[in-house]
Amino acid sequence: MEKKRINTKLQVQELIGNSDVALSHQDINRMLEQSCDRVTIYRVLDKLMGEGLIHRIIDVDGVSKFAACHGCTKEHHHHHVHFSCTVCHSVTCIEEVEPHFQLPEGYKIQEMNITLSGICPDCSAS
Ligand SMILES: [Zn+2]
Ligand SMILES: [Zn+2]
Ligand SMILES: [Zn+2]
Repeated sequence: MEKKRINTKLQVQELIGNSDVALSHQDINRMLEQSCDRVTIYRVLDKLMGEGLIHRIIDVDGVSKFAACHGCTKEHHHHHVHFSCTVCHSVTCIEEVEPHFQLPEGYKIQEMNITLSGICPDCSAS
């Protein structure tokens, strides 16, 4: 019998890409059809980040979550904000909001981590 080879990287990329909210390492581990060891998932996440396919968000609880990138190359160039819900703990990319800062001369922004916290539409509806 031929052994079915499962491409963890592709699976993780798909999970993140198909999700409306950012996923934590734990979420990914739970969602994978075949459980992987923690190290493998970390390695895959690092790789995907390096390739500009996903980005990391730290939520209000200090948990790392991962969301898909759109049109990033090796360098990430999105400056959108993230919303972290204090009720359901979901983290969402708000791609249409990109704040701009006027910094003093000599400062060059490379990365921006802005996470707003509050109540998401799903939680305010119920
Ligand atoms: Zn990116
Ligand atoms: Zn919520
Ligand atoms: Zn994002």
